[in-house]
Amino acid sequence: MYFIDVILPIPLKQTFTYSVNKDEAAFLKQGFRVAVPFGKSKVYTAIVYQVHDQAPQGYETKSIDQILDETPIVTSTQIKHWEWIADYYMCTLGEVVKAALPSAFLLESETMVSLNKDAVIDETNLSDEEFLVLEALEHRSPIHINDVRSILDKSNVVKVLQGLIEQRVISVFEEVYEQYSPKLKRYIKLAPRYISEENLRELLDSLTRAPKQREVLMQLFMLQSKDKKPIGVDKLLKASKASSATVKSLVDKQILEEFYIKKDRVNYEGEAGEDVKQLNEPQQVALKEIKKSFKEKDIVLLHGVTSSGKTEIYVQLIEQMLKTGQQILYMLPEIALTTQLITRLQYYFGDKVSVYHSKYTLNERVEVWNNVLNSKPKAQIVIGARSSLFLPFSNLGLIIVDEEHEPSFKQYNPAPRYHARDSAVVLANYHDAKTLMGSATPSLETYHNCATDKYGLVTLNTRFGNVLMPDIELVDIKEKHKKKLMKGHFSDQLLEEMQETLNNNEQIILFQNRRGFSPIVECNTCGTSPQCPNCDVSLTYHQYKKELRCHYCGYHTAMLVSCMACGSESLDSKGFGTEQIETELKSLFPKHNIARMDQDTTKGKHAYAKLIDQLENQEIDILVGTQMLAKGLDFRNIGLVGVMNADNLLNFPDFRAHERSFQLLQQVSGRAGRTKKRGKVLIQTYNPYHTILQQVSINDYKTMYKMQTDERHNYKYPPFYRTIKLTFKDRNLQKVNKAALWYDLALEQQLKENVLGPEAPPVSRIRNQYITNVLVKIPKEQSLAKTKEYINKVQRSFNAIKEFSSVRVIIDVDNY
Ligand code: ADP
Ligand code: ZN
Ligand code: ZN
Repeated sequence: MYFIDVILPIPLKQTFTYSVNKDEAAFLKQGFRVAVPFGKSKVYTAIVYQVHDQAPQGYETKSIDQILDETPIVTSTQIKHWEWIADYYMCTLGEVVKAALPSAFLLESETMVSLNKDAVIDETNLSDEEFLVLEALEHRSPIHINDVRSILDKSNVVKVLQGLIEQRVISVFEEVYEQYSPKLKRYIKLAPRYISEENLRELLDSLTRAPKQREVLMQLFMLQSKDKKPIGVDKLLKASKASSATVKSLVDKQILEEFYIKKDRVNYEGEAGEDVKQLNEPQQVALKEIKKSFKEKDIVLLHGVTSSGKTEIYVQLIEQMLKTGQQILYMLPEIALTTQLITRLQYYFGDKVSVYHSKYTLNERVEVWNNVLNSKPKAQIVIGARSSLFLPFSNLGLIIVDEEHEPSFKQYNPAPRYHARDSAVVLANYHDAKTLMGSATPSLETYHNCATDKYGLVTLNTRFGNVLMPDIELVDIKEKHKKKLMKGHFSDQLLEEMQETLNNNEQIILFQNRRGFSPIVECNTCGTSPQCPNCDVSLTYHQYKKELRCHYCGYHTAMLVSCMACGSESLDSKGFGTEQIETELKSLFPKHNIARMDQDTTKGKHAYAKLIDQLENQEIDILVGTQMLAKGLDFRNIGLVGVMNADNLLNFPDFRAHERSFQLLQQVSGRAGRTKKRGKVLIQTYNPYHTILQQVSINDYKTMYKMQTDERHNYKYPPFYRTIKLTFKDRNLQKVNKAALWYDLALEQQLKENVLGPEAPPVSRIRNQYITNVLVKIPKEQSLAKTKEYINKVQRSFNAIKEFSSVRVIIDVDNY
């Protein structure tokens, strides 16, 4: 008798055992996929964990449905890494597997199957069964995998679907993500035939009766003689004063030819062939130091101020790594927000770069997975968000974690609640690879690791091209209000600087950390503000749609005409968001182009990339936005950055609020003045003497680090204590409180005063679920493993209590 233990992509702790025959046992290894029956009627795709001959005690094993691969698609290093993640972040291996594998690899009984609309299908290649599925899908798409079962009259359909996916006939799930294709610019040239003088003369003679067309041609020659660059259609139209119909008829007659060039390629200023930029002196020094540091340390932090040219240093390291044939993983916080950087890397490394992103189509993801697995040159460099960490690297040499301080490296929901930066360090360790972290505003934890000599540290203090760090000034708006020098939310000083910047033909970025028009609507008569029916928060007014919206659950309703409580029609708004700033701007600067960047304006597929394009092409004079603005954008012409109000950042109830405010304000400021001229930053605040703001204004990371770490030390927070947060959720308030209290007391028996709570968070009801938290703090000298073991033990007892069976417990390790 032979058996395999498999990992199912579900949140159950243990592996499951199935029986296999002798041949199967000889063929299978860890990392193969098999389809297995589960429960009454379900079929799952599972990953083989091990093959053995130990019959499990006490139950009859089922046999597998079938083997889905010819070779393993998961490596043993991956499994080892995933086990570490499951163990460290207190979730199941199945949950990690589910997060790790592209869902096309994990067909299961809930899968929806849809027809690829633009599939080119050669029906002769399809098997009878595949053809039946295709036929059904042509009739109706998508269909449930159970429908496929009844169509084929068998339960075991995974292999058939697998075949159809491979032939690109179908996709699973309906989600399709189109990649943004950058704007193509239309150019025009003379058809090659007319390059010969003879033909050209003939042509011009033949056009004597079409003077307009002739004029277009003459102008084209003029332009060409002045400039060797390709001639844009718009330029030609302007020069010849012709209509586009005239140009079109020349194209139709095949006298002119149109062609397209991707805009960024045309604008690229480097010489052709001279691909990688020459590093300047400070960059060279930094690169040398990084390499030296790598001789002793596996992890190095590059602390380089904004616009110091960190990317170019990464590029050099990547280039050297490429020569060794090893793989490189370049991790970014949010792929969608970094189109600029991807274009830059693709420009340098061309088809050696693969991008891996959870929003790419399933086929693309499977393709990248397979390329990495087979060490294809195409995937030697992988750029990806946090999930790229799960790819089947076999020969990883370098991991770059760019903007390592970014909170979005941490996954909050669902499990695994892992931190991609920290998990990357473990991954690198398994591969004997090096990790380079980079940031202008490192997280306290990482900097602390440098201070305690765990990581190497390399600093880069000068901006590229010797551009000065922006000149940051704090504007006391309390004073301005008193002296009546405010227009709406703008101080006289900000308005003056804006006017000057616009006069200089430079662009402006304004930062407001809230979307919407004004967060809260309040009745002037009775003071009531409309609340979300599902959550414990006030609704936010969005003027554009005349709506009240909940930013937690998405609930929305039309703006009220009168107070729901007292009927008064005098409603007022308090606080302000991006939308209101935009409205004020439009009346303050009616002649300028104003745009807004926040969650509401970037919902469409390519909306974000379009805004970036417009800003780059200087079609926007003033851009107002939320913290999306802080994400490593690199623009040439931003003269001024204004922060509308720094106070709501600082007052956020979280132990990291000050660190985060510093990072955010420095990053936003860093968008100013990236070429030649020194940029200007104005930060409006009611509290200009706040230490964090003072530190931001003089660019003093070190003092910030020192003061914040002292506080963390005094209040027992990371990096001195670790924390694990337990969140309890239920629709019944009393029950959730009772359950949390029970849990808290059970934990305290062992962990004593290091258990805090239960305490309700500021928003204590979301989507009708009541929420309360318990925080476990773990001193350095206390064993992390034992603490987790104890929590697991309490969890098991908790699970046995019937009364609490509806209460959800979410465990979040390193919950910050
Ligand atoms: P950081 O990531 O540190 O904020 P970037 O790498 O984006 O900085 O560099 C800022 C700007 O300076 C970019 O536009 C980049 O192209 C330019 N730059 C940096 N290093 C060089 C170099 N060695 N040669 C030419 N341009 C450079
Ligand atoms: Zn009222
Ligand atoms: Zn809500």
